[in-house]
Amino acid sequence: MQELWGRKVLKKEIRDSERINEEGLTLPTMKELNEREIQCLRCGQVQLKQRVQLMNQHYYCPECIQLGRVDTGQFFYHLPEPDSITRKVHFAWQGTLTRGQQQVSDELLASVKKAESRMIWAVTGAGKTEMLFESIHYSLECGYRVGIASPRVDVCLELFPRIKAVFPEEAALLLHGKMEEGYRYTKLVVCTTHQLLRFYQAFDVLIIDEVDAFPFVDNPLLQFGVTQAIKQKSSLIYLTATPTEELTKKSDQKELEISILPARYHRRVLPVPKIKWCRHWQEKIKKGKSPKTLVDTIRTLVSKNDVLIFCPSISLMEQLKEAVEKKFPEIPSASVHSQDSYRLEKVLRMRNKEYRILMTSTILERGVTFDGVSVIVLGANHEVFATSALVQIAGRVDRREEYTAGEVWFLHDGCTKAMREAIKQIKKMNTLGVERGLIDEM
Ligand SMILES: [Zn+2]
Repeated sequence: MQELWGRKVLKKEIRDSERINEEGLTLPTMKELNEREIQCLRCGQVQLKQRVQLMNQHYYCPECIQLGRVDTGQFFYHLPEPDSITRKVHFAWQGTLTRGQQQVSDELLASVKKAESRMIWAVTGAGKTEMLFESIHYSLECGYRVGIASPRVDVCLELFPRIKAVFPEEAALLLHGKMEEGYRYTKLVVCTTHQLLRFYQAFDVLIIDEVDAFPFVDNPLLQFGVTQAIKQKSSLIYLTATPTEELTKKSDQKELEISILPARYHRRVLPVPKIKWCRHWQEKIKKGKSPKTLVDTIRTLVSKNDVLIFCPSISLMEQLKEAVEKKFPEIPSASVHSQDSYRLEKVLRMRNKEYRILMTSTILERGVTFDGVSVIVLGANHEVFATSALVQIAGRVDRREEYTAGEVWFLHDGCTKAMREAIKQIKKMNTLGVERGLIDEM
């Protein structure tokens, strides 16, 4: 019953469910806290009993129902992880780390050896994944079970083949909500943070990528999943380019070790966003006009690079698209958002330089790299643009080896704390990079 090792699943989720009664341990699915409240033991959320009672007098959890309904009429099935056995693991990575990356990689390895947790704060485009390889290799050779989880499916999809290529002979599993492949036991798992809710004391090393990203950030359900999925003695590794306040606080109070990589491999500073007043941008776009400041900025930037324009909402973006097309009829442009079924195709076309201007919702704030782009955030003072979003968006510029003088512009009509914080964070990283000798003077 390897299928149950380190798992905590319902009977209907088990392939070989005939045998579970002989071999699997059963665990309760919910816990009555008092007269009024009951807690789900998969997602940790507390419910009022009267609101979650079923016709048959049992209780259920509405919070994690998308993973299959948990109710008090069922059990979880579980088997503990077997003891670790050391072994040889083929490591096929040929690259070299920069000095900054190597330092972080060493610190991470030291943490894994001590079974302590650590946050890695690496600027956008720093090459986070490569810094993990040595620790993953060490862990697998110790016989540890290693999980790499991200809140975003597309990050998992991109990560999995890269990890597979580094450990070509290692059985690895990719888990996310939309997959067809069934579950099987492997020592190496790449999954969405939602999938962690099905693990129980499974991982010796668990790496959470993009810990500041939706839907993980501020989500107690997914954070409960993490605490359940790790072994009591384990390393929990957080990766981020924009740490949450909670993590920063933990590291300030010395509760969490931290490694900072303030520079990209090409040793240039991060582009610092410039801000420009753009009066009544929202009203103007709603009237079908393009604000003059925007038009001027596009004109300047597009003479050197392609331009990504981030918009705070889809409806505003659609209106803006028409206005921009009118002003720049000779320049090929498009718009893209999360519900756009041609999303991947449009991103590819932008990458292939078939478009020169791409208007986008926050969907492209992370995980994409374009050659030779500048970025405009239109209405940077809008509430959707939190500090982390603005740092990520600014991080789309100058990611490649070749320098193209890409710029970042925040257009606004009322500077926000998030805008100031984002600029402060970027400058802080640049200063740190220069101090550590990881950035060359331009
Ligand atoms: Zn639940």
